[in-house]
Amino acid sequence: MTMVDVISKKRDGLELSTEEIQYFINGYVSGAIPDYQASALCMAILLNGMNDRETLDLTIAMMNSGDVLDLSSIEGIKVDKHSTGGVGDKTSLVLCPMVAACGLKVAKMSGRGLGHTGGTIDKLESFPGFNTGISEERFYNNVNEHGIVITGQTSNLDPADKLLYALRDVTGTVPSIPLITSSIMSKKLASGADVIVLDVKCGDGSFMKTQEDAHKLADSLIRIGRGAGKKCSAVVSDMGQPLGFAIGNALEVKEAISVLSGRLSNDLLDLCLTIGSRMLVLSGIAPDETQAGIMLMKTISSGSALKKLAEMVEAQDGDSKAVYDTSCLPTAAVRLEVMAEQAGYVESIKAEKLGLISMKLGGGRAKKSDIIDLGVGIVLNKKVGDAVSAGDVLATIHAKTAENADSAANELIECFSLSEKPVEAPLFIKEII
Ligand code: URA
Repeated sequence: MTMVDVISKKRDGLELSTEEIQYFINGYVSGAIPDYQASALCMAILLNGMNDRETLDLTIAMMNSGDVLDLSSIEGIKVDKHSTGGVGDKTSLVLCPMVAACGLKVAKMSGRGLGHTGGTIDKLESFPGFNTGISEERFYNNVNEHGIVITGQTSNLDPADKLLYALRDVTGTVPSIPLITSSIMSKKLASGADVIVLDVKCGDGSFMKTQEDAHKLADSLIRIGRGAGKKCSAVVSDMGQPLGFAIGNALEVKEAISVLSGRLSNDLLDLCLTIGSRMLVLSGIAPDETQAGIMLMKTISSGSALKKLAEMVEAQDGDSKAVYDTSCLPTAAVRLEVMAEQAGYVESIKAEKLGLISMKLGGGRAKKSDIIDLGVGIVLNKKVGDAVSAGDVLATIHAKTAENADSAANELIECFSLSEKPVEAPLFIKEII
């Protein structure tokens, strides 16, 4: 077999065999297959697609290119979730403690933020001392003892994806359903959970801009997950505006704590209840979605979810005082309110642009090596559908300097468009599959 044969076959629209897919992944990871041949194959896949059998083979080959966690020594049902990424997406911070408080086991590896989207690991580092790189032994011990652990990905998790994603990024081959599916599912399968719920975002702040494309991706992710023997479900949710109110690491942690404390009920809570209910039903610990929703809400009213968050923070060397007193979280020196110049109804809020403004304030990374400022970001005061009077605060900027705040304010005002006529708040959960 040669790589030229494999590329030519896919170029001609033919199906690749399991051996050919394995040959490609092994050769690319070992360095025997050069980038130019791998990128030619990615382009052929983007243009001619892959069927489910090929996509599953690619996913499994990628998963096996590195460490695969064996969670079988952990008692109970292990659950995981994945979001395709968005702005203000702090779902894991709320959802994981809630489902862990219901008795499910959360052994989660999360990523860092890049570009306009944030990452759970950065957000968790807002807790002073929080350790996102605990040893494998502690990882297993913590799940057994506390039912919850969230760490960064091990350096040898899915090396094939690390190489392929970097290549796809610079060769125009990111938007391919089989390539996205294998990239996401190989990492999820390597993380070892029994039940996986996928949150596929659609709209301005996400890379699936339409609901139709988000549906296709969600469907493909589920088919591959089930093909690999996992219980899988997906939610398609709106990212036409940021999720919740806060964008920026410590600000998002603060919002997550408000939801877990029962002080805030918003789209973020709705999403956590939807994903959490799927997890509870698929795991068999709730008979249906209604009962699951009741169990999840009880974790808030009883304080058990908030307690679970504090337990996880402590177990990972963090200072859990901040869970009960959010003034202990990192803050920014300057706050600047941005006011509406005229009255109207919020018609749209550009999520991606807001994510980029937060990044420029120092809350995100333009490149992987950038160091982030945990205290900065944006807190929205109005969301789509809200009525606004002239002079109302649209959002508050949290910045390191007055100069940074002023320049963010000029850009932020452009992210809001107002209509003279009333606007209906968009349907947030678009689909549950
Ligand atoms: N997220 C991933 O992990 N992989 C992709 O290909 C796209 C989004």
